Amino acid sequence: MIRHLTLNIQGALRWPDKMLTNLFINNETKRPLTAGEARIYLTQELNSGKLKLPLGDCNNFDFQKGCPGHQDKK
Ligand SMILES: [Zn+2]
Repeated sequence: MIRHLTLNIQGALRWPDKMLTNLFINNETKRPLTAGEARIYLTQELNSGKLKLPLGDCNNFDFQKGCPGHQDKK
């Protein structure tokens, strides 16, 4: 069983700027977000009803509860 790291959006908004810098990548420009841009993005996601975001490539992510866990593919 593997479980992807889950970011708590409300928690992340309280982080200092240096922890938010380069944490996210803009999918269109492929450039990392500044701390200010990250706060705007997190606030938008929170306002759209999400509580959590996946850190990593989770294909079954629950935006309220986080990664449900995945069976090992062996
Ligand atoms: Zn996952």
